[in-house]
Formats: sequence, structure tokens, C-alpha cells
Amino acid sequence: MVPFYTYQPRRNDPIRANYHTHTTRCKHAQGSDRDYVLAAIQGGFSRLGFSDHTPWPYPDGFVSPTRMDMDELAGYVQSVNALKAAHAGEIEIRLGLEAEHYPEYTGWLLEMKQAHGVDYLLLGSHFDTRYEEVYYGKISSPEHVVGYAKLTLEGIASGLYDCLAHPDLFLQAYPRFDDVCLKASRDICRAARDMDLPLEYNLSGFYNVRRRRGGLGYPCLEFWQVAAEEGLSAIIGIDAHSPERMLDAPLYDLARQHLRALGIREVTSLGNKAHKKKAV
Ligand SMILES: [Zn+2]
Ligand SMILES: [Zn+2]
Repeated sequence: MVPFYTYQPRRNDPIRANYHTHTTRCKHAQGSDRDYVLAAIQGGFSRLGFSDHTPWPYPDGFVSPTRMDMDELAGYVQSVNALKAAHAGEIEIRLGLEAEHYPEYTGWLLEMKQAHGVDYLLLGSHFDTRYEEVYYGKISSPEHVVGYAKLTLEGIASGLYDCLAHPDLFLQAYPRFDDVCLKASRDICRAARDMDLPLEYNLSGFYNVRRRRGGLGYPCLEFWQVAAEEGLSAIIGIDAHSPERMLDAPLYDLARQHLRALGIREVTSLGNKAHKKKAV
């Protein structure tokens, strides 16, 4: 068993880095962009990546309730770049986006990434389709687990992303770690390992107790035991939707201890593409 409730920081710990930060543009976060930077500095972070939910070029006027609108993208890029310049020397700021893998948007995503100089992409399988009918943080049927695994495996295979965000999100409301979950976990971990893609040990699940609805929650120990067996590496992600989360450095350091206890190698850098074996 992993000792989940002890906290023993070590003197020679690596830097604190968080590549998972949202902004109010996604319609479910609070605080100004600058507030996140100031809180990250106060929380002892050396590196902060913004990774708001990407907009999608909907052809039919659909407005997503969970992501920025297309006309907010340029302002987002400009704001993060301005903060990068303003706080150079204090904290390293990176420009990223979190995206689901929808094949119809792969070309658009790649072009947009290059056009805006986006440093990295997180793969986050939140919804089954671009119209967001099934939320994978609420599923409780084996069919939906299979759907989650399929979408995620296609994203991993594309080589487009720098990290797999909250890989165990599908377990949040799922009642038990059954054979379907074991197979999904094993397949996802093996595919990520073969692409040298780090997993994210996502801390937002520690705050989401009410959203579990009797489910396993995340980080889910059974999933991470599979990740350890398959030799994955991981980055700790705060998934901040409010600046205050950046002040919870003790939780971050506790997560560091979980990974150590599991025998999973921790990384603190994303987006250098050095880990890619193939790219599309
Ligand atoms: Zn979000
Ligand atoms: Zn996410």
C-alpha cells in the first residue's frame, strides 16, 4: 500500500513544476491570469504552464460550456506571452493547451499550435465527441470505459501530445476496478510507454470527493500500480481552476512521495519533444 497521508519533504527534491493551469476563458475557473502566476511564485513553483481547454472550430455555431470560444484564443496567447516576459527570471512560464483527440480537428490543432507558438499540448479525454455528450468523469458502465480507452489510445498513437492528463479520470465515478478497467489501464499505460509519453498524476481529484458519486476517484491506486508495473514516468499536475490551488505545495510534495513509493519516475519538464519516438 502507498502511504497516502504522510508528508515528508526532502531537501534535494527537484523543482516544483505545474503544467496544468486553466483560466476564466473556460467558463469554470476563477482568477486573473496574473493571479495564477503570483500564486505559483508564492507556492514555490519554478515553472508554470498554462493549459486552458482548447477552443474548437465548430462548423455550426455550437458553443461549448467548458472551453474558450475561438475568438478568445489570440487574447489567451497574448496574455500568457506577456506574463512570460513580465516574470522572466522569477518563474518560467510556458504556453500550452489541453485538448481531446478528435481526428476531425487534428490538422487544425497542429496548424494552430505552430501559428501561435504553443509550447506543449496536454491530451485530456474529457468528452466522447466535440459535442460533449458523455463526460468521462461521470461514467459507470463498461461500454463507456471502452470508449474512453479507444479515444485515449488514438490520441496517444497520434504523437501530437506531450503528456496524458488525468489518465484515470474515467475511474472518478466508476464503482469498482473490474477487468474492463484493468484492460483499459493496461492498454493505455503500454501505449504511453511505447510512445515515451509521460502520464499526469493529477491532483484535482483530491478535491473532487463530491464528484465521485460513490466511484473510485483519482488518482486511483489500482491504475497507478499498473502504471508502475509498465514502467511509466509521470509529472504532477495541479489542474488549477483557481489560483489558490497553487498555494497547496504540501499536497504537491505529498504526490511526489506517492510516486516515489510506487517506484514511478517523476519528470518536471514537458514539451521539448525529445521524448517523441514518432510524430505525425
Ligand atoms: Zn477544466
Ligand atoms: Zn482535464
